[in-house]
Amino acid sequence: MKELQQFAKQYHQEMNWEISNETYEQSKASLLQNYMLLTTEVAEVAEELRKAFTIAHKKIEAGADPEEAFTWAKQEVKEDISKEFADCLAYMLKFVNYFEIDLEDSFYKKMAEVKQRKHNKYA
Ligand SMILES: [Mg+2]
Repeated sequence: MKELQQFAKQYHQEMNWEISNETYEQSKASLLQNYMLLTTEVAEVAEELRKAFTIAHKKIEAGADPEEAFTWAKQEVKEDISKEFADCLAYMLKFVNYFEIDLEDSFYKKMAEVKQRKHNKYA
């Protein structure tokens, strides 16, 4: 993850796609713009899921076994949905780099926190 974060930092610098860190107004505009771009990519994941369900539905209607139809449909969207997840990750990495967050560290901490919360809830 640290490598990925470093790669994204250099990549966004090279492309001049970093979140602006100049003035408050520029940062605010840039953060909001990038937030919109991130949510657009999240919506593109939904689009791929919808595509998979449509493909599976058509196959099932034509008489295919639902599990086989869905396995086939998932394979059909796999390449495109992988690109959308990559787009989402790129924007997330841009945000964490802007906030100088160590995402690997915060990920493990948050997962432990969630696990602890679940344990406490059912203890
Ligand atoms: Mg995309």
